[in-house]
Amino acid sequence: MINNFTYYNPVKVIFGKETIALIAKNIPTDAKVMITYGGGSIFKNGVYDQVKVALTSFEVVEFGGIEPNPTYETLMKAVELGRIEKIDFILSVGGGSVLDGTKFISAAIPFSEGNEWENIVKAKRIKAAIPLGAVLTLPATGSEMNSGAVISKAETKEKFAMSSPLLFPKFSVLDPETTFSLPKKQIANGAADAFTHVMEQYMTYPIGAMIQDQFAESVLRTLISVGPKALENQTDYDTMSNLMWAATVALNGWISLGVPSDWATHQIGHELTALHGVDHARTLAVVLPHLMRYKKENKRGKLIQYAKNVWNETGTDDDLVEKAITNTINFYESLGIPTKGSVYGINLDTIKEIKTRFTERGVVYGENKDITPEAVEDILNMSIA
Ligand code: NAP
Ligand code: FE
Repeated sequence: MINNFTYYNPVKVIFGKETIALIAKNIPTDAKVMITYGGGSIFKNGVYDQVKVALTSFEVVEFGGIEPNPTYETLMKAVELGRIEKIDFILSVGGGSVLDGTKFISAAIPFSEGNEWENIVKAKRIKAAIPLGAVLTLPATGSEMNSGAVISKAETKEKFAMSSPLLFPKFSVLDPETTFSLPKKQIANGAADAFTHVMEQYMTYPIGAMIQDQFAESVLRTLISVGPKALENQTDYDTMSNLMWAATVALNGWISLGVPSDWATHQIGHELTALHGVDHARTLAVVLPHLMRYKKENKRGKLIQYAKNVWNETGTDDDLVEKAITNTINFYESLGIPTKGSVYGINLDTIKEIKTRFTERGVVYGENKDITPEAVEDILNMSIA
């Protein structure tokens, strides 16, 4: 069965070779534009030059230095600049971190009540936002076609997701050639993050939404096929264009229509990044396989379906459940991504801290709200065993 749903996604996607030139037509002609970027990759791969040529007729201000897992502390400096300069439009040029950070900046600039961390990130009181667009250089997060952002606070080692319909980009340019310069680790991370996004919306129970299920399976099969190829030959346009579009549709809302979603893996993963500095995608790989094993009775029907339809496995139902989990582990490991938390020094102290945080926040996760703080403790114990 398909549950009730409402679908809304206004993002204009501009996909393909040499599309950065098209940004000018999509920004109001009299806008003062703030370009946001990260640590400098856009200067080395020619993306910055293409953006500057495209924006020749605009008044432009720049803010660089947005770090992976963008921090509130850094982003507030961009907010100050944007307020002083009275900017009208923000163009994010980079990966998911720059784009997520830009979404925060866009909501924070017009916010006049102060304490943006509590109000905007934690309480999600987003009343207005400066319009934003994106030139995406890293296929991974899906942020280019969704209204979410994940923001960290360095001071308190916290990381929270926020979202608002006001934070959809007005447009996102996806030129697969911008990915040719990615470090291999980031290609692997991107494929793993996108894969996990699909799993959060697909590996849920009950089952029966046929379009969503088969769509999710096709995205998973695409990622399984192009992920390792992208690591071998990242300047192959065919491979990188498929990877880029797969990562976008993995989290643009299509897969989640009318189906329950899990998201426990991401919530636990955010804590592991906040506390241990582990890359986002890598935290997911140390949680998901263990969550699948922990929940294998509740998710049994879906695990069997996944083993058959995504991995072409055969056998008894018990075999298929086991193969669902081992194939998932092998996928992450084939990208060079470990599936054991112990590799990163995650230990009993970390697990205790996460359990305490979730208990204090009064949160439970999973499609059936049964990933309690105690379940999180069990899952993470499996990851470090
Ligand atoms: P990222 O943190 O944006 O970027 C990782 C690294 O890749 C940076 O050092 C960046 O360098 C470099 N890079 C990006 N594009 C490049 C290119 N074309 N060539 C060379 N280097 C390049 O990575 P991400 O995986 O896209 O984003 C991760 C963040 O997104 C996490 O905070 C995660 O929690 C969040 N996230 C958001 C959503 C969502 O829906 N909004 C979903 C999942 C995850 P520079 O800094 O120098 O550019
Ligand atoms: Fe993610």
